[in-house]
Amino acid sequence: MKNKELKILLSAPRGFCAGVERAIEIVEKSIQKYGAPVYVRHEIVHNKYVVDDLKSKGAIFVEELEEIKDKSRPVIFSAHGVPKKIPEDAKDYNMTYVDATCPLVSKVHREAENLHKAGYHLILIGHQNHPEVIGTMGQLPKGSIDLIQNEDDAKKYTTENKKISYVTQTTLSVDDTKDIIKILKDKFPNIKEPAKEDICYATTNRQMAVKNIAKECDLFFVIGSRNSSNSVRLVEVAKKSGCSNSQLIHSQSKIPFDLIENSNTIGISSGASAPEILVDNFIKELKNRFTVSIDEIEIIKENVVFKVPKKLN
Ligand code: SF4
Repeated sequence: MKNKELKILLSAPRGFCAGVERAIEIVEKSIQKYGAPVYVRHEIVHNKYVVDDLKSKGAIFVEELEEIKDKSRPVIFSAHGVPKKIPEDAKDYNMTYVDATCPLVSKVHREAENLHKAGYHLILIGHQNHPEVIGTMGQLPKGSIDLIQNEDDAKKYTTENKKISYVTQTTLSVDDTKDIIKILKDKFPNIKEPAKEDICYATTNRQMAVKNIAKECDLFFVIGSRNSSNSVRLVEVAKKSGCSNSQLIHSQSKIPFDLIENSNTIGISSGASAPEILVDNFIKELKNRFTVSIDEIEIIKENVVFKVPKKLN
């Protein structure tokens, strides 16, 4: 079997973005500063490997502040952002908190708030129940922001409000979102657009990189968790861009060696919350069985870095 030659096209950029790097650093520095345990509200980023590693260092993950028995311990809010009420609740509990919300998500929060103050009714394009969507909707009073998830929602959407504007989740499909926005613009020609694109640089770059190579691949693998929005989008992008046989490789996945055996070229990328070691391990498994050649195709260099809050330095 080792005689079988396999070409890997390694998509770049892939994996960790600046917001994820910062969120992980915040948890590690908080443990150094405050000692263990520190609580983290929701998975700091959507990846089991990262979460398990931080657990082993002294982080305890909870979904709600109410679950924290010892409220004298600090709590960290995840990279996805939280509704306004959460820091307020933490203050009421007299808890120390550190906010690991990605600055690019906070930017959307501020944007939504400013538009609301300027008298706009808001539309959020995003996926229901994703923590980022819950966090963004939770920046504004109930009834002042509506969720649109897909083209159908956009077609059906009606509102009495004359002044409307929209913001989006940061990890959506760039192309699908364009189609949704086009429907909204056709229906509401005066709809106010955000000053700057809300889909973040990391989401955009990873999707562009996958799009660039998908056509050349017989199979495409995206390393990332099932609840990682941007990883799931990358699988969709690979499918739409010419590699119908694309799938997510998550913590419980079995590598489909039979499919790989029948392929010549496979593409690999990873979501913004997936560490590179998972890509390395995946490639190692392939090298154990096949004669592998790797060609990394990088479409853009990333150099974005976000600083951790001053109180942790
Ligand atoms: S995917 Fe984008 S918005 Fe989300 S944490 Fe990374 S940089 Fe921030």
